[in-house]
Amino acid sequence: MSEKMLRFIDISQQNPPKRDNYERKEDFKEIYNEFINEKAKEQSSRCSQCGVPFCQVHCPLSNNIPDWLKLTAEGRLEEAYQLSQSTNNMPEICGRICPQDRLCEGNCVIEQSGHGTVTIGSIEKFITENAWANGWIKPIEVKNNIDQSVGIIGAGPAGLACAEQLRKEGYKITVYDRYDRAGGLLIYGIPNFKLEKFAVERRTKLLEEGGIKFIYNYEVGKDSTLDQLRKKHDVVLIATGVYKAREIKVPGDNLDNILPAMEFLTASNRKGLGDKVEAFDDGKLNAEGKNVIVIGGGDTAMDCVRTAVRQNAKSVKCLYRRDKENMPGSAREVSNAEEEGVEFVWLSSPKEFYGKNKVQNIIANKIKLGKPDDSGRRKPEVEHGSEFELKADMVIKALGFDPENLPKLFNCEELKVSKWGTLKIDFDTMETNLPGVFAAGDIVRGASLVVWAIKDGRDVAISISKYLKVKEKNREKVA
Ligand SMILES: Cc1cc2nc3c(=O)[nH]c(=O)nc-3n(C[C@H](O)[C@H](O)[C@H](O)COP(=O)(O)OP(=O)(O)OC[C@H]3O[C@@H](n4cnc5c(N)ncnc54)[C@H](O)[C@@H]3O)c2cc1C
Ligand code: SF4
Repeated sequence: MSEKMLRFIDISQQNPPKRDNYERKEDFKEIYNEFINEKAKEQSSRCSQCGVPFCQVHCPLSNNIPDWLKLTAEGRLEEAYQLSQSTNNMPEICGRICPQDRLCEGNCVIEQSGHGTVTIGSIEKFITENAWANGWIKPIEVKNNIDQSVGIIGAGPAGLACAEQLRKEGYKITVYDRYDRAGGLLIYGIPNFKLEKFAVERRTKLLEEGGIKFIYNYEVGKDSTLDQLRKKHDVVLIATGVYKAREIKVPGDNLDNILPAMEFLTASNRKGLGDKVEAFDDGKLNAEGKNVIVIGGGDTAMDCVRTAVRQNAKSVKCLYRRDKENMPGSAREVSNAEEEGVEFVWLSSPKEFYGKNKVQNIIANKIKLGKPDDSGRRKPEVEHGSEFELKADMVIKALGFDPENLPKLFNCEELKVSKWGTLKIDFDTMETNLPGVFAAGDIVRGASLVVWAIKDGRDVAISISKYLKVKEKNREKVA
């Protein structure tokens, strides 16, 4: 058998083992086989250097994947790291949680030719973890401090990427966040088993050491208005993400133990971080021993079902109104959940929640898919007389997120938003309709991905820097 064939066989062995019960809990890990040096070299050498880097084209950051794979295959790991970090502020985080099957790996020519993708995400994670271990990742050292300041609202990936890029240039950066920690959804949304929190906290610490100031428990709209921040800083960036949970309006939706996804996931992440969480300890936000039903079909729903499995739920079901082919979530996430024993109830939607104070049952309707609607997706239609009942001690609503009403929240009615409530920006400059106020990440795109938030953070930093240079020149002229 050729050496190349042997490598393909090795890839197939990286598939996680099948889970047919919920017995193993603490040792459940997203990355089932840790990458080691030799394996990374071996995988990297599978890249055919095809010359048409579809992987790079489909990476939102245009990471120079073929070149850092080549350097890794040659054992030139420090150079591989330098190249990888030159386009990405958090390569080890993207390596862990990008939906690679839809981005770089899904478009790898080796994958396309049916031989299994080069595992780009795992290699990206390996390169950067190796750099951390070797002390190659250092805090920003500013050569020329510039006396202009930027206030960033939101310490998610968009805000953090922008903060880092601008600090490197020497600007004074203050990041405000209403949470008590930095990271946004990296810290309190995405579960620990997909993204270990030390990886997020390590990044925040590095930024602090590089001179970026963080102000926590500070909610713009409550602790200050947008206008007050505009007076304090030369530029303000809004990178607040989207947090308004979509609701299910059916009878019984006010019963106890029907929870929004973020409440459930935040409690679980806080526990993982060592916080005291009363609502978890008293059982309200803990799935242990319960029949859990998660409603929704996106990645957040998958995070909820897989978290419930790890909390020792008695049973975990996912109720989704479309079928498997039409799920919005990543196919890899769905198959992970299936392997871990989650039962999917396709083509079903809740009609009523039922119980005495606490939810006890869901009455659901069967759904059939009708003709495509305005969005081009086939419209779910209720099949009359198809009701069925499911036992539920805990229901988690994971139907997606919309933007909060920022103009109202920020006490700034003139701030322009789209019909979806996302902030309107000039797509060339990323500036809102308010001079010197920029926006980036989910609050502009709607719920998206970490890698896109990083891309936006980097792009808006370029734009802000240009704006500040012009502002400074104008000041000099007047002086
Ligand atoms: C459960 C879940 C799982 C996900 N899993 C993945 C995944 O596996 N892979 C992936 O690529 N993407 C995933 N995503 C999407 C991804 O997390 C987001 O696209 C990304 O975090 C958006 O970054 P952001 O910086 O725009 O906003 P966020 O990460 O939402 O950060 C916004 C920050 O702004 C702060 N803030 C908001 N309002 C105010 C205010 N008024 N004053 C002060 N601070 C404020 C918030 O506290 C928060 O810290 C997931 C999302 C969710 C909900
Ligand atoms: S950032 Fe995401 S899409 Fe780009 S190479 Fe890394 S894992 Fe792939």
